Amino acid sequence: MNQYKKIADELSRLGGTIQVVTDLDILETYAKDETSDLSAMPDILVRAETAQDVSLVLGYCNANNVPVIPRGAGTGVTGGAVPVMGGVVLSLEKMNRIIEIDRENMVAVAEPGAITRDIQEAAREQGLMYPPDPASLDSCSIGGNVAENAGGPRAVRYGTTKDYVLGLEFVLADGSIITTGGKIVKNATGYSLLGILIGSEGTLSVITKIFLRLVPAPPVAIDMLIPFPSIQDAADAVQAILIGKIIPATLEFMERDAIAMVSAHLGRETPFPDAGAHLLIQVDGNDDQAVLDSLERIARIAGVDPEAMLIAQSAAQRERLWKARRSIRESITVESPVFLAEDCVVPRSKIPAFLTELKAYLETRGLRSVMFGHAGDGNVHIDVLKGGMEYETWKAALPDLKREIYRRAIALGGTITGEHGIGFIRKDYLGLACSDAEIELFRRIKKAFDPKGILNPGKIF
Ligand SMILES: Cc1cc2nc3c(=O)[nH]c(=O)nc-3n(C[C@H](O)[C@H](O)[C@H](O)COP(=O)(O)OP(=O)(O)OC[C@H]3O[C@@H](n4cnc5c(N)ncnc54)[C@H](O)[C@@H]3O)c2cc1C
Repeated sequence: MNQYKKIADELSRLGGTIQVVTDLDILETYAKDETSDLSAMPDILVRAETAQDVSLVLGYCNANNVPVIPRGAGTGVTGGAVPVMGGVVLSLEKMNRIIEIDRENMVAVAEPGAITRDIQEAAREQGLMYPPDPASLDSCSIGGNVAENAGGPRAVRYGTTKDYVLGLEFVLADGSIITTGGKIVKNATGYSLLGILIGSEGTLSVITKIFLRLVPAPPVAIDMLIPFPSIQDAADAVQAILIGKIIPATLEFMERDAIAMVSAHLGRETPFPDAGAHLLIQVDGNDDQAVLDSLERIARIAGVDPEAMLIAQSAAQRERLWKARRSIRESITVESPVFLAEDCVVPRSKIPAFLTELKAYLETRGLRSVMFGHAGDGNVHIDVLKGGMEYETWKAALPDLKREIYRRAIALGGTITGEHGIGFIRKDYLGLACSDAEIELFRRIKKAFDPKGILNPGKIF
C-alpha cells in the first residue's frame, strides 16, 4: 500500500471532526500560495475544526515522522504554506470563528482561520479598531498574520501584528495544547513565548486561538494623495513630516513605474500620472478640525501647494485612491506572471539611496522593476519582472539578483524582509542577515518546540 494511503486511512480513524482529503484535484489547489512560480503537491490535506483535531493530527504525525505544513488562507508570498517536501497540509480554514469581541477589556478572541477584515469589522461595530491592515486583509487569516508577523500601511503609527497579540493557544508537535497570555495587557510571567511564536512561520507550533488587543476606533480619517517629482523628494517629505511630530496613520509611496503599471491595469489614469512618486497619506483623529489641521501642517512641512494634492472627500474617492495602491501586485501579475517580490526594510532616511541605486543597477541588467510600499517605516516592496526573459536565464540569474538586493539593504543598516518572512524562497539567504550564533539559537529553539522537525520542514533555515 502507498505510504500516504496508509497514513490517510490512519488519520481518518483518529476521531474528532478531522476531514481527510486525498482527491488530487483538491490537493492541487493547496499546492500553491501567492508566491510567484512556486508549487508542490501535498500528499494529504487535513482540515481541522478544533484545537483537539489539531492535537490529534500532530500527535499522530509526530509519532510517525510525517511532515505537517500549517496553512491559513494561502496568501503568503514566500512559500510558507507550500509543502515543498511533501507531507500533510493542515488547513485551519474551517476554524474561522470570531469567538468574542470583549468591549469591556478591548480584546478580540478569534480562531486562526478568521479573516482579518472580518475581525476589523466586528471590532468596528463596537467602536473599536484592530489596526494591522495587510493589503491582503480581505482574504488572509489572522493565524497566518500571527505566523508571519504581518504588517501593513498602518504600521507607521500603529505597529504590526506583534503589537496586538496578547495571548495564544497553540499546539506543539507532540500534540500538547498550551495557552500563553490571554485577555491581559501586561504579563511578566516567565519567558515571553509570544515573542518567539509570532513570526515563526508555522515551524514551531500550530496556533489555534488568538487574543488580540483592540484600540478605540478614531472617528475621523482623511486620505490624501501628494505628487512629488522624485522618490528623493517624497522621502524628504516623509522625514520632514515625522520629524515635525506628525505621525499619520499611513505614509505609503508608489514610484513612477508602479503608478504607470496600475493605471494601465485599471484602465484609468491615476491622478498626477506624470509624478516621479506619490505619497498616499491617511491622517486619523478624534474630530474633523484636528485632522484637517494635521493635513494642512503636512502640506506646509512637505512644502506642497495644497492645490497640488488630492484630498479624498468621500468614501468612493478614498476607495479609488486605495484601490490603486492595493492593485499593484495584481497589475504586476498580469504584466509578468513570473516576478521576484522583495520586501526589504531599511532605515527610513536610506529609502532614496536604496531604491534609486537599486533601480539603476536593475536597469543595467535589463530588468524592469516596480517599487512601492511603506515609506513611513522603511519597508519597501521591490518587484522585479521576468518579462520576456527566457525562463532558464531568469532562474539562473535569481540567486545573484536576490543576494545583491539583500546585500544593499543590509549595507544600509536594513534587513532582508520587513513583513513577508523568510519562508522557502529566502531561506538560503538568512545567513546574510543573521550571524551563525543567532541561527544556531534559532535551531535550538526549533528543537525545543519540535524535536523531530515535523513542522513545516524546509522553511526559514
Ligand atoms: C495581494 C497581497 C497583498 C499582501 N499584502 C501584505 C501586507 O500588506 N503586509 C503583509 O505583512 N503581508 C502581505 N501579504 C502577504 C500575506 O497576505 C501575509 O503573509 C499573511 O499574513 C498570510 O496569511 P495567510 O492566512 O494567507 O497565511 P498562509 O499563506 O496560509 O501561511 C503563511 C505562513 O503562516 C503559517 N501559518 C498559517 N496559519 C498558521 C497557524 N494557525 N499556525 C501556525 N502557522 C500558521 C504557514 O505555515 C505559513 O508558513 C500580501 C499578500 C498578497 C497576495
